[in-house]
Amino acid sequence: MQYHLNGFKPGNYQVPDAARKAYPNPPIKDLPTTVDVLIIGTGPAGLTMARQMSEFNDITTCIVDMADGPLLFGRADGISCRTIEIMEAFNSSEMVVKETYKLKQNTFWEPDPDNPVHIKRTEKIDDARAGLSEFTHGIVNQARLHELLSDGMANSITNLRPHCSRELLELVVNDSLTQDPSAHPITATFRRTDNAGKDKRETIKARFVVGCDGGRSRVRKSLGITLEGDSANKAWGVMDILLNTDFPDIRVKSFIQSKDHGAVMIIPREGGYLCRFYVEMDVIEKEKRASEVDITEQDLIAKAQQIFHPYTLDVKEVAWWSIYSVGQRIADRFDNRPADSSDEIIPRAFVAGDACHTHSPKGGWGLNTSLPDTFNLGWKMAAVLQGKSAPQLLATYATERRKVAQQLINADKELSKLVATRPASAAITDDARVDTAEIEAFMKRQSGFVSGTSIEYFPSYICAGQEHQRLASGFKIGQRFHSAVATRLTDGATQHLGHLVKADGRWRIFMFTGDGDPTQPSSAAYKFANYMEHDPASPVQKYTPAGADIDSVIDTYAVFQDKALSMHDLHSLHCPATSALTLDF
Ligand SMILES: Cc1cc2nc3c(=O)[nH]c(=O)nc-3n(C[C@H](O)[C@H](O)[C@H](O)COP(=O)(O)OP(=O)(O)OC[C@H]3O[C@@H](n4cnc5c(N)ncnc54)[C@H](O)[C@@H]3O)c2cc1C
Repeated sequence: MQYHLNGFKPGNYQVPDAARKAYPNPPIKDLPTTVDVLIIGTGPAGLTMARQMSEFNDITTCIVDMADGPLLFGRADGISCRTIEIMEAFNSSEMVVKETYKLKQNTFWEPDPDNPVHIKRTEKIDDARAGLSEFTHGIVNQARLHELLSDGMANSITNLRPHCSRELLELVVNDSLTQDPSAHPITATFRRTDNAGKDKRETIKARFVVGCDGGRSRVRKSLGITLEGDSANKAWGVMDILLNTDFPDIRVKSFIQSKDHGAVMIIPREGGYLCRFYVEMDVIEKEKRASEVDITEQDLIAKAQQIFHPYTLDVKEVAWWSIYSVGQRIADRFDNRPADSSDEIIPRAFVAGDACHTHSPKGGWGLNTSLPDTFNLGWKMAAVLQGKSAPQLLATYATERRKVAQQLINADKELSKLVATRPASAAITDDARVDTAEIEAFMKRQSGFVSGTSIEYFPSYICAGQEHQRLASGFKIGQRFHSAVATRLTDGATQHLGHLVKADGRWRIFMFTGDGDPTQPSSAAYKFANYMEHDPASPVQKYTPAGADIDSVIDTYAVFQDKALSMHDLHSLHCPATSALTLDF
């Protein structure tokens, strides 16, 4: 698909450039006074939390942001395979797949040994993430992902929409109420920032609050959570540009190291013409913010042009630019419980996304770690609020996601060292060339982590230990369900098994049957289905409320080896009578 031909235009890419309009700011509506779940921030973390909660009609949710409308430009743009899998769980992967630039290759450029003021390609390699998922790492404006999540919320049964122009001023947790699940221990005070309601104060009481309010999170500060690690002192200029160039790899992700002028990373973007440039800038003084550095977009272009030599860089439009500098920092706690609390203590306030971990933009991890944070928390919150799970389930959010954040910080430190400028004197020696090989090796080694597909949780309240691994050697315990294609018995269509796992609060069981005849009552497959459907000890029997559809809590699928089976010969668990009309195939 081609877009942005006459200049960058935000909005729905399904609408042609000429007709596309940016999403409008939502109308101001009064905030509710009491909710189950309060979400601060409409970035990827906040919107994913809200998208998940929007599925449940019996849970009241409010999502609030101090911005006056949706994000239109810039920020992150890399959408990992795992993030697209999550979007599929929300039924919104098609647009992401359609609209993104698909990352298939990487190139590496270094000073030409014969003429070091020129750059020369040293490597062109396939992207190490190929094959880790049915989806490919894609690149698209972060704002577009926000729109897809917001559209999903608006079209859901709860018709949930964000409240904008509200700045969180104060968050108070009443500790005497936190262990009473029905209480509303959270009080949040907001200031209206729009002209009509300027400075008006509003208060919400909530049972739970999730701080998705970015790197300078007020929720985090209110909870007394501190960030550990280094504050940044290396600035990277980032710009999304429409350009002309004779650089041959302009449509390939490229790492370029010049002899004297630093480094540039190029990320081709959606629409065929747009490109993102990360330009390495100078070290900035300790504790100084990137926004205080005196650099203009023209400085970024000039620096990129120097690094590109002998290739030309003719910038036609700068759609967005920023100076981006973040330290590698992680919150000491991800919820309001004191450090080293027992899992029996119920957490009521959480931080997610950039509010609890920050790092450099080089690996494209910000969005791709923030969004899965709340994908992890969302279903747990719903299960607890709906009484399907004990509140202790919520403690697993911090354990699971803090481990991922720590791995992320470690990986980012390693990548930062590899991508940072090497001394000019070393740039054309053999040592320097080893660095390129090291980046390549890093990317191969970390590909599962970078793509989000090998994230693995420890044994816990909800995750079994390795002692059961032999039962399903192809599915690693603690990792996400790796999808594969099967043929549907009813109509012969191909079906991705992973795409049956929707973010609707239900548990899924996939049964991979042996080679016996599964229609025979003596077969293991039939016996298992029978146990699930009829035995009072089975989880389906134990946890499905009387009168509810049999697949309403646990949805069971079977994968058979025989394609010729008729669905009417199968056990009734595989054709459950569901819905008000008790439809059964
Ligand atoms: C300026 C900027 C440039 C970036 N550039 C890149 C990049 O080039 N590459 C990359 O990979 N990543 C980049 N990132 C990081 C990436 O965008 C984040 O990792 C990702 O958006 C994190 O998602 P989040 O939901 O945790 O937080 P955010 O996306 O930061 O969202 C936080 C939201 O909370 C709102 N908020 C904050 N405080 C309050 C308050 N007191 N009251 C109400 N609302 C509040 C904010 O308005 C914001 O909408 C950039 C981030 C920023 C801020």
